Amino acid sequence: MRCHRHSGPKCQFVPPHILDHIAKVTGVDTREPHPATLSATASKQFRDRRARSMIDLATLTTPRPGKSDRVIHDAQNQWDLTSAQQIRGESDPAVGTPKNANTAYDHVGAVRTFYAEVLGRDSIDHRGMDINVYVNFGVEFDNAFWDEKNIVLGNGDGTIFTDFSKSPDVLGHELTHGVVQYTAKLEYQGQSGALNEHFADVFGSLMEQHMRKEDAGTANWLIGDEVMAEDQYGEALRSMAHPGTAFDNPIMGKDPQPAHMSGYFPGPEDNQGVHINSGIPNRAFYLVAMEIGTTQAGLIWYAGLQNLWATAKFADAATVLSAQARILARENKVARNAAQTVRSAFRDVGIH
Ligand SMILES: [Zn+2]
Repeated sequence: MRCHRHSGPKCQFVPPHILDHIAKVTGVDTREPHPATLSATASKQFRDRRARSMIDLATLTTPRPGKSDRVIHDAQNQWDLTSAQQIRGESDPAVGTPKNANTAYDHVGAVRTFYAEVLGRDSIDHRGMDINVYVNFGVEFDNAFWDEKNIVLGNGDGTIFTDFSKSPDVLGHELTHGVVQYTAKLEYQGQSGALNEHFADVFGSLMEQHMRKEDAGTANWLIGDEVMAEDQYGEALRSMAHPGTAFDNPIMGKDPQPAHMSGYFPGPEDNQGVHINSGIPNRAFYLVAMEIGTTQAGLIWYAGLQNLWATAKFADAATVLSAQARILARENKVARNAAQTVRSAFRDVGIH
């Protein structure tokens, strides 16, 4: 998979149409350095950095090869990772500051546990690679992304979004972009890109359900609800159950996701709608999970991910997923009629 079509990170949690809308309404584009926030945060950064320098680097655990160890870095509010500092390694005690390093450590640990216990996967590459997470990227940066090696998290501007480490599904979503990179390698544009986003949402949501001991019937199926600031309470970025209903407000605009092929977004924006058309397979997954349970649906989708290919389209996903459902049913790992359930869910969203 390539998230970069041109330059700079593109595999981002908050999609471009939302950021465009926010920039238009507020006049501030938090995707890049901007003078208002630079001066306001300069002194705070200095204080924070002084506090951080108290961390004794000599006591930090370096990652052991092949053990899927976590490494948390502080990007120190810079717009690149060159001056970042490792602040917590695997099994190191919680740090005093910045506290979001501990939240990221815990959440990425929950993602790793979900992949290991539920899907039998050993880290991102299934060979125990280290999991590197950078907190405090940029200034009031309203996003999180996977840069093909690392998970990078912004602090949010505090009005629309809060710190991205707060949300388990952000970590689950971004780490899954890494898993896709090592499995189906789905190209990040058009339908294959929407499938890439879809799988990231599926396993982001599943790890959160696993962590909270929820199932299809009790989960909220929202993506990104925990990173909304207080002013936006009740909004989220996507709804897997009801695509198109996650947000509707003057700052963010209205959720453009279709729940059916009849609403398919054909435009060039967002790499041809990767965060938009993902609503269609998301809804299909939700329907399957409601029928046979989240865990079984997750097993089918994980098997599907390992059998899809870089240019796969929605119809390919429907075929591969129902074929994998049949194999898993024969092995008594999922419900006997799971293949039909998958077919029927895709038909319900207009994919034949
Ligand atoms: Zn994504």
